[in-house]
Amino acid sequence: MAKQFQAIRGMNDILPAESMHWQALETTTREVLAAYGYHEIRLPLVEKTELFARSIGEVTDIVEKEMYTFNDRNGESLTLRPEGTAGCVRACIEHGLLHNQTQRLWYAGPMFRYEKPQKGRYRQFHQIGAEAYGMAGPDIDAELISLTARLWRRLGIHNVTLQLNSLGSNVARTAYRERLVAYFMARHGALDEDSLRRLHTNPLRILDSKNPAMRTVIEEAPSLLDHLDTESRVHFETLQGLLDSTGTTYEINPRLVRGLDYYSQTVFEWVTDTLGAQGTICAGGRYDALIEQLGGQTVPGIGFAMGLERLVAMLAAADQPGVDLTPHAYLIAVGDAAQQAALALAERLRDQLPVLRLRMNCGGGGFKAQFRRADHSGARFALILAENEVSAGALAIKPLRDSQGEQITLPQDQAVDWLRAALGAMP
Ligand code: ATP
Ligand code: MG
Repeated sequence: MAKQFQAIRGMNDILPAESMHWQALETTTREVLAAYGYHEIRLPLVEKTELFARSIGEVTDIVEKEMYTFNDRNGESLTLRPEGTAGCVRACIEHGLLHNQTQRLWYAGPMFRYEKPQKGRYRQFHQIGAEAYGMAGPDIDAELISLTARLWRRLGIHNVTLQLNSLGSNVARTAYRERLVAYFMARHGALDEDSLRRLHTNPLRILDSKNPAMRTVIEEAPSLLDHLDTESRVHFETLQGLLDSTGTTYEINPRLVRGLDYYSQTVFEWVTDTLGAQGTICAGGRYDALIEQLGGQTVPGIGFAMGLERLVAMLAAADQPGVDLTPHAYLIAVGDAAQQAALALAERLRDQLPVLRLRMNCGGGGFKAQFRRADHSGARFALILAENEVSAGALAIKPLRDSQGEQITLPQDQAVDWLRAALGAMP
């Protein structure tokens, strides 16, 4: 037997039973983004490795151990994108989209990280992200968060909480960082291996440790919120007031630091306890220094990215309907003349009624076999074409789901009106 191939570990096929949830999620998200004035930007899947190293930070999980990096045939180091923000900023600088203007942008697509595959964590996964540039105040932070809250409502997702923190300005964070290092140094016996390594490279990330043995030492650590500079504190308090005024509830989590270096000030995550260990469905924050750091002007930015696999899992678990692709009608054609006429009739019906989902019987078969297929398709109506109908220019229609419904026969040129009315009456 020939060798059977399997998908790469951590890279999933999305089969039709699932893709209907993906479509529903993507359609609703696009509508909500449009309602807030966001425009789509489409970006390459591959960028120079240095772009990610410089933006995400050398001492982060992503850059240290998760990137798919390779040399192309010219020996240039390239990387499959692990996230979308770096490429989006690169594109905006390159195309001059940040000169004296604001931008509200979104992107969607696969991201790649070499992680340990498990439920909710994959090596190819998908995000939809939004980025807003050129607005420094807390109003855009609040708008962006309201957008995500609206999206959960529209999707029928309820078991989520918003966690909010401020990382302060870069200056304030540097001062805090020193205090934090001193605190952890004094307790370095309580630190695990990962944290000891991070102590001098990226001590804030210790606060993000998921190791239960580290909980107490982390809980007792000095809080970043006690070390905010005045500007950051005012920004954070104003943001909270704006969220209160829109009825968006949140929890302040002083340990929320986020895994990427480019954040400053506002950071947030939407988390759920319905997905097990991988409970963050959406994460984001402000990154006012990143654009300049990547060679652009001094332009503030804020954004978020949501994990589509985790959202789809929530939609499926909540029995939310996906996009419905069940055919409305199934066209049965028995006999040579009818089979010949069926294709042309099907095309005419689709011309005149573009919303009609019509599945034509292909591959022949007698009445009984074709009716069985019609039934299996889930269609509401069987459209029937046999010798009699063809010679009379007629079409028989039999309701399949409604046991009271009688079969009727119509002239073919009245079929569209009949179907339009029937579709209009459907739930
Ligand atoms: P974590 O701490 O869970 O590794 P992260 O901070 O690395 O998360 P982000 O880079 O903020 O994640 O990505 C934003 C969102 O994308 C996450 O909240 C999650 O929903 C999703 N996500 C991130 N990595 C993966 C992955 N490997 N598989 C599936 N979804 C992911
Ligand atoms: Mg991660």
